[in-house]
Amino acid sequence: MKRLFAAMMALSVAVQPLSALDTEEPTWSIAIHGGAGVIKRANLSAEREAAIRAKLDEALAKGSEILKSGGTSMDAITATIMILENDPNFNAGKGAVFTWEGKNELDTSIMDGKTRNAGAAAGVQYTKNPILLARAVMENSRHVLLSGAGADQFSREQGLEQVDPQYFYTQSRYDSLQRYKAAQTKREAEKSAAKTSSIELKTDAAGLDALGRDYRFGTVGAVAVDKDGNIAAGTSTGGTTGKRWGRVGDSPIIGAGTYADNRSCGISATGTGEYFIRLAVAQEICSRLRHRFRREIDKAQLTVPKDADGNYTYIVHASEFELNEKQVQEEADAVIAELGDIGGDGGIIYVTPFGHSGFSFNTEGMYRARGGSNGTKVIAIYGDE
Ligand code: ASP
Repeated sequence: MKRLFAAMMALSVAVQPLSALDTEEPTWSIAIHGGAGVIKRANLSAEREAAIRAKLDEALAKGSEILKSGGTSMDAITATIMILENDPNFNAGKGAVFTWEGKNELDTSIMDGKTRNAGAAAGVQYTKNPILLARAVMENSRHVLLSGAGADQFSREQGLEQVDPQYFYTQSRYDSLQRYKAAQTKREAEKSAAKTSSIELKTDAAGLDALGRDYRFGTVGAVAVDKDGNIAAGTSTGGTTGKRWGRVGDSPIIGAGTYADNRSCGISATGTGEYFIRLAVAQEICSRLRHRFRREIDKAQLTVPKDADGNYTYIVHASEFELNEKQVQEEADAVIAELGDIGGDGGIIYVTPFGHSGFSFNTEGMYRARGGSNGTKVIAIYGDE
């Protein structure tokens, strides 16, 4: 180790000794989000902003408490997400957005980075806390993704708390649906008029998409790494306002909206789901990190002297290294930049097995928070915070 360290210093390769080896305390960290989008100071009342910050703080405190006392990352993210699902300010559980038909259809997923086991549900209508359903699918079924009536049935059979769909109703989300439908209906009328005359369409498709996005904020997610180095990730949402035809976004899709792998990272996403699915954003970031980490280890191995037989005198082990924070952020930002290139917007939260936590997003803001054993505590909304 010492020899390797000296060799590394000489070549100053971009790896650092694992901090857990230097300090006694095992590290843990957690990051959470409550959606991303056009979140500007002018659009958010002081009360609403305060309520959102307080709820992020409460959720972060809950997850942190579990991790600090030696609990699992799986328990920490479940408890954190439930707090946000129960709050009407977020587009998950109570407060979910409405479908075109005026229903709330909830999507969710969860993943365990140690086993890479996963569970998810799409279009569920009666489960009070959808994240518990994702977890039940993971833990108590042979499947990964259940949908619609079958998912609701499984939820009942699992004894999860069921509610009347009315429970999810909030007036502001319902009003958003009415505005969205009015704009959509207007556009359809313009379109059919344009067929018979040469008038120009006033509401373009992009504008309408933007409207759907504006009415979407509040998907929630959490990622955490516990003292044993196990990563977990989860996401829960109502999807997008006015969704139709059984539309399913990225949130219940393992690899798109959620991914966890102890060898690389945990990710939860929020944004225009279709684009996150197309790039498999969550898995893409984890893969890039895993390969980059591998490259750094290989590079370090090359710095180790060989013996007379040409064998390395020391074999570098992954547990001796960590990527630094900048490298992790770079990989996440690169994928979010690609998302932007194809027209997607939104963001992700991440943790790594080394205890890094952070965010990457290409929208004006993202409701977000993170904390860890190193004393970090961030609660933020706007992009410039
Ligand atoms: N990603 C979610 C979806 O497309 C929405 C969001 O995160 O705002 O369903």
